[in-house]
Amino acid sequence: MDIEQFRKAGYQAVDRICEYYYTLQNRSVIPKVEPGYLKNYIPPCAPEAGEDFQLIADDYQNFILPGLTHWQHPSFFAYFPTACTFEGMIGDLYSSSACNPGFNWSSSPACTELEVTMMDWAAQLLGLSPVFLNSSAIGGGVIQTSASDSALLVVVAARSLYQRNHAEAKLEDLVIYTSTQTHSLGVKAGLVLGLQVRAINVKLEDEFSLRGDTLKAALKEDAKLGKRPFILIATVGTTSSGAIDNLPEIQEVAREHPDLWVHIDAAWAGVALSCPENRGKLYLRETNDFADSFCTNFHKWGLVNFDFSALWVRDRSNLVDALEVTPVFLRSKQDDSGMAIDYRNWHLGLGRRFRSLKLWFVLRSFGAEGFRKHIRRAIELNNLFAGLISESKILSLVTPSSFALSVFRLVPAGVQDDLSLEALNELNRSLFGRLSARQDIMLTQTNLNGIFCIRLVVGAVRTDEQHVRNAYDVVAEEAEGVLQAWHQTTATPSD
Ligand SMILES: *Cc1c(COP(=O)(O)O)cnc(C)c1O
Repeated sequence: MDIEQFRKAGYQAVDRICEYYYTLQNRSVIPKVEPGYLKNYIPPCAPEAGEDFQLIADDYQNFILPGLTHWQHPSFFAYFPTACTFEGMIGDLYSSSACNPGFNWSSSPACTELEVTMMDWAAQLLGLSPVFLNSSAIGGGVIQTSASDSALLVVVAARSLYQRNHAEAKLEDLVIYTSTQTHSLGVKAGLVLGLQVRAINVKLEDEFSLRGDTLKAALKEDAKLGKRPFILIATVGTTSSGAIDNLPEIQEVAREHPDLWVHIDAAWAGVALSCPENRGKLYLRETNDFADSFCTNFHKWGLVNFDFSALWVRDRSNLVDALEVTPVFLRSKQDDSGMAIDYRNWHLGLGRRFRSLKLWFVLRSFGAEGFRKHIRRAIELNNLFAGLISESKILSLVTPSSFALSVFRLVPAGVQDDLSLEALNELNRSLFGRLSARQDIMLTQTNLNGIFCIRLVVGAVRTDEQHVRNAYDVVAEEAEGVLQAWHQTTATPSD
């Protein structure tokens, strides 16, 4: 493909993408394909002779599009929606056109400098303390691929710091602390690094928030056993239910354990800090006072296309001390003089994508105001859904709804006390089975301390009130269907 052919194919691609977005509403959210479907269309090896690009472009339309789950569909309420924007897409396009693995300043000055500034923009948008800004020259922010990479990175940094301060500590005694509601990134970091992970219990009556007393008891118990917890991954907005660990209490405990690194995983809910009214509930003050690191994904609710996980640390030297390896060919005048950030020492790889462009385009085009509007709208729409669930006689919230997430289940009126947890779970599995058999809407399931639940999350850019009302109607209709079937099986002939 030469430059003129690219121009033509590029215009066609943009036209087709526009068409895709115009027709998105009319598509089913979930594709109608069976596992292995693509094998029928794509040969098992690459062609020997090059093919005409038009054929390739058409095959995307014909074979790939029908196999996509449409995350940008307004009726996509599963997992955590990825709020994708055209600004972000254009950022990605420029990024791949420059194709710069900006590992240090001199490898492409704009890549490092824009990331340094964008991470400061983002920190200020969320209200993070100036200590986390790159301009502080002490802490700083860096873009990572995912929240799991961010967590793995800080565990590595925390481990190095702990080992520098406790040369006698044996690796097998080190423990990563999480709660039972922490995302699997905690367990994964333990697997990758060969470290123990302890999941501390959280309770339904605490709305699944990690409490100070439980943490304190775990620390005491482990100290007796000679174990060395060196990092706590606390969550602000858990994946299952949007629970928020009790940072004020954790701060109290952490005061007595200065060796415990506290990482805040706010992968989903962190971007809601952009709205001042959410900052108290999300414990911004405590994060600013004592967290060693903080992570939120702009690629979930934050209008930036995947991938863009934002990580800030209170003290950048902990990353660099853990990760710096400088072979001669990577040395440069600017980096050696400490004038520029060397981002290769702030993540696990060497090369990195030019992702800051996406946030730059999004924040300038939306403005902080537009960004907050998007966050507030999702919360309002979820409140609408949660309100409808609360008014229903057969559906109820399992735990208070959290920002843009509701967790609910079917609980038939008047029989709650007569039904065992297992019987209720069975009804709800059947409700979820019916919902997932539909293709016009997508939700996900979860399990909260043994309770089978269904989650609905608002966040896709094109979701509005009609889609949320429709989602409620669909859930209510399927729930009625489950009840009817259930009454038939439990009815005795004399009824
Ligand atoms: C989604 C999510 C993650 C995982 O995010 P990745 O970027 O996919 O690794 C981690 N923690 C929480 C709380 C999440 O919601």
